[in-house]
Amino acid sequence: MKIAVSACLLGEKIRFDGGHKHDRFITKQLGEFAQYVPFCPEHLAFGTPRPTIRLVEDTEDSYFVQSNKSQENVSKELLNSSQSEFSRIQNEPLRGIILKSKSPSCGLGSALVYRENGYAKEKSDGMFAKMCREQFPLLPMEEEGRLNDPWLRENFVMQLFAYDDFENLKATNPSMKELVAFHQSYKFMLQAKNDVMYRELGQIVGNHDNLTFDVLFGQYEVLFKTTIAQKSSIRKNRNVLEHMAGFVKDKISDVEKEMLHEQIREYADKIVPLIAPLSRLYMFAKNHEVEYLVGQKFLNPYPKELALRSDIKSGK
Ligand code: SF4
Repeated sequence: MKIAVSACLLGEKIRFDGGHKHDRFITKQLGEFAQYVPFCPEHLAFGTPRPTIRLVEDTEDSYFVQSNKSQENVSKELLNSSQSEFSRIQNEPLRGIILKSKSPSCGLGSALVYRENGYAKEKSDGMFAKMCREQFPLLPMEEEGRLNDPWLRENFVMQLFAYDDFENLKATNPSMKELVAFHQSYKFMLQAKNDVMYRELGQIVGNHDNLTFDVLFGQYEVLFKTTIAQKSSIRKNRNVLEHMAGFVKDKISDVEKEMLHEQIREYADKIVPLIAPLSRLYMFAKNHEVEYLVGQKFLNPYPKELALRSDIKSGK
């Protein structure tokens, strides 16, 4: 799985002062399952080390880039290098982008824009991040700063792997039957993200308007990628867990049922992490051969080794 990433987060010494911002989660944990495509628009434009730059208010919704040393407007240089870096990463089969927070180039909603008087006005996308957001509106994108939050981290990783799964399906030129099977396997994950969107996706695969498969698939793709970008929550997960428990209720003993529901309640009360009721459900589904549950992506959305659902803080 290829992910574009701000090069300084990989430990490359290309920050303005020749330093880096190595991020261990990116290189060590997620790095086990990803191939990174590094980029650095500022290094390309100004070399390393270099004077710092900042974003300065231009018109109401725009800014220019100013060198903090010479006060010169260096927007053109940064725009050119951002476009070159963008063209390079665009040629890769990307499944996501991870950007360095607060940078005037890479910050995703966290780059400060200053007024001419020197006071900070608001936060915005850095120049390169803006380009990525505009050109790849459906691609998973996140800042490393936000990934320190276990809830956002879990949601982002889930999104990355679901996006990858969809792209892999697309590459096989799937039939309608295969799309329906894909949709079914994502039922509970999609419900945990957004139940209304899940139902709309169901309408699309139902094809009541007799659309051609290409048109239908295009509609499904946009809505699927939009839905997986939504954040799950403890409340939504709890509903999904209760729903899943319904599939095994006639196969397990009263004591097992009671223990499962107790664990779901404990999850909702933040006493145990999500992995606890999920593992129990998975075990019941496996034991009693409830294939529909066993095949649900919600039970195994990404490699187990990442262990993101073992953290009680991964639920909100
Ligand atoms: S421009 Fe982006 S990649 Fe380069 S040093 Fe700054 S934050 Fe890191």
